[in-house]
Amino acid sequence: MNLNDIKQLACKEIENHGDRLIGVAKDILDNPEPGFQEFKTADRVAKEFESMGIPFEENIGITGLKASLNTRKGSGPNVAVIGELDSLKVLGHPHADPETSAAHACGHHCQIAMMIGVGVGLQAPGVLDSLSGRVTLMAVPAEEYIEVEYRDDLRREGKIEFLGGKPEFVRHGHFDDVDIAMMTHTSAAPDQGKISFGGTNNGLVAKTIKFSGTASHAGGAPHLGVNALNAAMIAMSAIHAQRETYRDQDTIRIHPIITRGGVAVSSVPADVRMETYVRGASIDAFLSASEKVDRALRAGAMAVGGSVEITTLPGYLPIQSSQPMLEIYSRNAATLVGSDGLNRLGHRTGSTDMGDISQMIPVIHPYVEAATGNGHGIDYMVKDYTLGVLTGAKAMAMTVIDLLHENAATGQMVVDKYKAPLTKTDYLSLLRGMMKEESYTE
Ligand SMILES: [Zn+2]
Ligand SMILES: [Zn+2]
Repeated sequence: MNLNDIKQLACKEIENHGDRLIGVAKDILDNPEPGFQEFKTADRVAKEFESMGIPFEENIGITGLKASLNTRKGSGPNVAVIGELDSLKVLGHPHADPETSAAHACGHHCQIAMMIGVGVGLQAPGVLDSLSGRVTLMAVPAEEYIEVEYRDDLRREGKIEFLGGKPEFVRHGHFDDVDIAMMTHTSAAPDQGKISFGGTNNGLVAKTIKFSGTASHAGGAPHLGVNALNAAMIAMSAIHAQRETYRDQDTIRIHPIITRGGVAVSSVPADVRMETYVRGASIDAFLSASEKVDRALRAGAMAVGGSVEITTLPGYLPIQSSQPMLEIYSRNAATLVGSDGLNRLGHRTGSTDMGDISQMIPVIHPYVEAATGNGHGIDYMVKDYTLGVLTGAKAMAMTVIDLLHENAATGQMVVDKYKAPLTKTDYLSLLRGMMKEESYTE
C-alpha cells in the first residue's frame, strides 16, 4: 500500500468514529478536574483504551496513563502522542464545576479526544501493518501549573516531586524509551488560520511565599503589630520596580497573586501568602529574574520588620520544535486545511511542560484554532469540534505514518538530526537545582 493510501485509511477511520471522539471531548468538558486530581477523566481514558483493546498502564504520576500500539515490524522509533488530562480553575466559566470552579478553559478535553483519535486511526485495518517502530498514547496529568500550595503539599508528602505531569512522567522513566513526541493544544486565534505551529515559549520557576508578622488590634494597638500584608505590598512594588531592568528579548513575565491577605479586618495581618511565576525566554533569563524577585520579597519583610519564607519550585523549560517534524506536520496539515489555513508562530510568553520534553527529544506542539474567547478566561470555548478533535487527530496520525512508514526511515532521520540540549540526568539535576527554600527575618 502506498503512503497516501495508508494515510487515507487512518483519516477515514477517524472520520467514521467522529461522533464517538467528539463525545469523549464533550464528556470531559462536563467533568473538569484540575491537575493530579483527574480521576474521572483518567477512568474515561481507561475505558477508551479498553474498548480499543490495547494494553495500558495507569496511576502514573497519580492519574496518568499510557498505552502501546505495536506495529508489524518492531524496529524503529517509539513515537508518543500526548493528551493532557487536567482542567484549569476559572470562576464562572459556563462549563465550570460549581463546587471546585474547575473548567476546561484551555481545551485539554479536546487533546484527550485527539490522542484517542490518533490511536483509532492507526488501528484501522492495514495501517499498523505497514509501519515500523511503536506508538505510545499518553494521557498526562497537570499541565496547567496551578494550585501551587496544594501541589507543594503533595510534594512534601512525597506523592510527587515536580508540580507538572510531564516532569513526573520523566522522573518515573516513562519517557526513557520514547524517541519522538507530539501533541496538539487548542487555541483561539481563528483569524490567524486553522492550524498554528512552530514558535517558542517562555520557561518558568514558581514561588510560594509566606510573609509573617505579628497580630495585634488593628485599631487599638497597631504599634504592637507587624503588618505582613504591608510587607507583601512593598514586595510587589519592588517587583514592579525591577521591570525596566529586563531586556525585551528575554520576555520576562512576573504575575504574583495574594492567596491569603489576612484573617479578620480588626487584626493586623500576621500571615500573608503569595504565589508567583517568574517566566522568561531562556533558562538563564528567568533564573536571573527570579533572584531579583527574591530580593524584592526580602525587602518587603525588611521594611516592616517581619519575616518571609520563599519556596522556589522548578516550573517548565522553554520549548523548541523539531524543524524536520514541523515540515512533515505542516505538509499533512495543509492537505486538511489548505496552505492558507496554516500559521507559523513566533515566540509566545506562556509556558508548557512540553518544553521540558523538547529539551531531551524531538517534539512538535501545534495548535488547532478551534476555540473563541480568551485562553484561560471565562469565555474560552471550543466552537469547532470537527477541527478541534477530528482534524487535529488526522494531522497527527498522518505525521506518525510519515515517521514510521518504510522501516521508519523518516522517524530515524528526525531522531538523528536532533541535538538534545539535555540528557534525562542533566534535566532532573537542573530541575532539582532550581528547588530552593529560604527564609529571611529582619
Ligand atoms: Zn493547556
Ligand atoms: Zn493552558
